[in-house]
Order: sequence, then C-alpha cells, then structure tokens
Amino acid sequence: MTETDETFRQLLERAAVVSDLSQAHAVLSWDENTYMPDGAAEARGQQMATLERIVHEHLTDPALADLVGFLEAAGYPEDGVERATVRQARRALDRATKLPASLVEALSKHVARARVAWARARQENDFAGFAPELEHMLELKREEADALGYEAHRFDALHDLSEPGSTAARLRSVFTPLRRELSELVAQIREAGSVIDDGILHQGFDEAAQERFAVDTVVGFGYDLNRGRLDRTVHPFATALSKYDVRITTRYQGHFLNPALFGTLHEAGHALYEQGVADAYYRTPLEGTCSLGMHESQSRLWENLVGRSRAFWEGAYPRLQRTFPSQFGDVGLDAFYAAVNRVDPSPVRVDADEVTYNLHIMLRFELEIALLEGSLSVRELPAAWNDGMRDMLAIVPDSDSNGVLQDVHWSIGLIGYFPTYALGNIISVQLFEAACAAHPGIPREIRAGHFGTLLGWLRENVHRHGARYLPDELLLRATGSGLDAGPYLRYLREKYSELYGLS
Ligand code: ZN
Repeated sequence: MTETDETFRQLLERAAVVSDLSQAHAVLSWDENTYMPDGAAEARGQQMATLERIVHEHLTDPALADLVGFLEAAGYPEDGVERATVRQARRALDRATKLPASLVEALSKHVARARVAWARARQENDFAGFAPELEHMLELKREEADALGYEAHRFDALHDLSEPGSTAARLRSVFTPLRRELSELVAQIREAGSVIDDGILHQGFDEAAQERFAVDTVVGFGYDLNRGRLDRTVHPFATALSKYDVRITTRYQGHFLNPALFGTLHEAGHALYEQGVADAYYRTPLEGTCSLGMHESQSRLWENLVGRSRAFWEGAYPRLQRTFPSQFGDVGLDAFYAAVNRVDPSPVRVDADEVTYNLHIMLRFELEIALLEGSLSVRELPAAWNDGMRDMLAIVPDSDSNGVLQDVHWSIGLIGYFPTYALGNIISVQLFEAACAAHPGIPREIRAGHFGTLLGWLRENVHRHGARYLPDELLLRATGSGLDAGPYLRYLREKYSELYGLS
C-alpha cells in the first residue's frame, strides 16, 4: 500500500466515525420531533450537545487537517471519487475550524433565545418584540460570513453552506428575469377572472384513510418502507438516519386534504434521494447529498411534476374516489385536477401554489441581501416586506404575523437558505424534462401508475452520486445544461394557460 493509499484509508476511517456520530445525533433529533415526551427536552438537549461537541472535536483534530492537506497534494485525477471525497472532507473540516468557538457558542445561545422571541412575536403580532433579536442575529451572521470567507458578498459565504458554489450574483442573474415573468403570469391569471373553486378539498377526511392513500402512493413511487417509515409531527420533514433508514413525517388536517397528501409526496421525494445514494458511499464524506437545492428538486419533482399532474391523477383519482367515496364520488377528474392546482396568491409562503411560490422566495432573497449589507435596517423591514408583496403579488398581509414574521428561518440563523427552495423548483423541471427526453414513455407510465423508469433515471443521474459532484456539475451531467429557469417558466405557462384559459 502506498503512503497515499494508507492516508486515504485513515481519512475514511475517521469519516466513518463522524458519520456514525452524526447519524446517532439524527436519531435523537428525529425522536425529539416526533415522540419524545416534553419532560425530556432538557436531557435530550444535553445529549445532542455532547454528540455535537464530540463531532466537533473529531473535525478539528489537527491530525485530520494533516491527512486532508496531504491528500489534496496527492494529485488525484480531477474527476475521480478520491478527489471528491477529499473535497467534501475539506468542506466539513473548514466549517468546523473556521468559526471561533466563542462565535459558535454565541450563535447557539442566540438561536435558542431568538427562536422563543420569534414564536412569541408571531403569536402576538409584535415585530418590535423580535427586532432586537433579529438585529443581533444579523451581527452574528455577518461575523460568521467574515470568518468563513467570501469573494464578492457576505451572503455568498452563508449561502454556500447549503448550496456549494452558488453566489448572490448567480442567483440574481436567474431570479431577476424570473421575477418579472412570474409576476406577469400571476397578473394574467388574475385578469382572466376565472376563479377555481377548491371547496371539495376542504371537507372532513378520515386521518387513517388519508394516511393509507398517501403511503400507498409513495410506496408506488418507490419509497422503501423496509428502510424507512412514516410518522406524525407538527412541522413535516424527512431525515436520513443513514441511507438504510430514511424517515418521513407528515401532519394531518381533518378538514383539508392537501397538507398531508402533498406534504407526504414532498417528503417522500426527499427520502427517495437519500435512499438512492450508492452503497459504496455509506459512512464516507460522499454519503450525503450534493446540495439543498438539489434535494428540494427531488421533493418538488414528486410533489408537483408528478403529484399535481393530470397524467398522475388520471391513474390515481379512481383510487382516491374509492378511498373517499362521499367526498369525491360525484366529483369529476377535471374539477379535482383544477382544485389541486388552483392559483391563489396568499401572503403565506407555505400556502403558496406553484406559480406564486418562487416570488415569495425572491422577496426574502432581496431582503436578506439588503439586511446583510445594512442598506435596509431591521426597523424598515416590515414596510419593505409589505411593499415587496404588493409589487409581486398585489396583496398586502393583514398583519406582520402573516407577513415578515411568518417563517422561523431568520430566528434560527438560516440566512442564505431560502433560495434553495427556488432552485429546487427550477431544477425539478430541468430534470423532469431530461428524464422524459431520455424516456418519452414516462408520462404514459405515470398515467398507468408506474414510476420505475422515472425513478430509475433519477437514481442513475442524480441519487446514486451522493455528494460526489457539486450541484452545478451534477446538473450539467444530468441535463446537459446549467441552471436555467426557461424550462420551469415554459412548464408553468403551458400548464396554467390551459387551466385558466389564457391566450
Ligand atoms: Zn423540502
């Protein structure tokens, strides 16, 4: 064995320990968000903090930096697995070492405090009560960005944590024309004047029956319950406790079908990605996924491109009618398809339809940039928020609770994160089109309730690669193109022109 081989083996050995510890942490976190009794909160916090500290010790061990430094100089081929493994190890190591311990501690303490302040402020519609906490959070995040380092903008350092290689400048070049075109489409739909009634979705739905339908659907997509499970929670999520145990959660509303149904399809899309990473990458720095934007592309693809398509419901609607005969027995497919695709500009992001969703993200992106730069003060934020909503969607929230205070993200320090949702929407259409170009039979198969060809293409071109490629490179390999909002816009125009009778 050469010295390089031996060093690489040592790196993998250390990475496996970090992987095991991180996944044990994920188990505790999953439990905290599902079944943990309230009384255990403090003890659980200690357990998780201890695991985080041990992981941090492993990542900041100078011996690890030596291994990574040695391997970076080893001259591995540009395209190989070893090179990618070392790159991902470097990313994890840099994240752990670049931030001074005092800043990490200040951030973690402030997150706990700001989150509580945010929840209270949202409850009481009291932005002023949250403003000082947000101001301090921004100070800490500026410090974090400076410690991580960036070339053009502080935002880039924070955004790179969830979307490696992406920058504000690149997002702007995609978002600016997209914002204009989406606003125009929303205005056309509004002016068309036809309102879709979605009252059929707001009826009583038995929870056990909702669950059965959703589970049958995602198992049909290819979600492997032998390596996963579905539980209930307040804020749905998917989590990989390893690629052999990828769990999803959902929440049921007795009088609205959409949250559990489309929420489950969404989380299952995330889970299919994690379940599909190559076995060979298990317990290595490549076992993760390549970015949050790519992750969101998988959830959106199954939720929207499949789950809100006419082809899918042509196959699945009779099963839904049998599940809920008194609610849907007399409702035709066209009415149901229109109802689940109704465009209804809402002040609230999580209620947004496909057409308006990305506009919510672009508003947050622009405000985050301005806040980080200091060109917008926290005091001016609610007015700037409402102006943005008026510009883009021609609505103004009735309160800050339904406006600037609606999302938890800023209170827990997630800045530079929102754009990954928009990237997910854009990429989902690029990937779906590429899959259909390679296999023109996919829409026909979806109609027949078969998803194997689509999943197989995603497995081959996206899932199995884990974190081997940076997101731009993975997208290029899968679609032959870089990030491009063109397919997404074409898809929306075509689908919604038909639904709303636009010329
Ligand atoms: Zn998601």
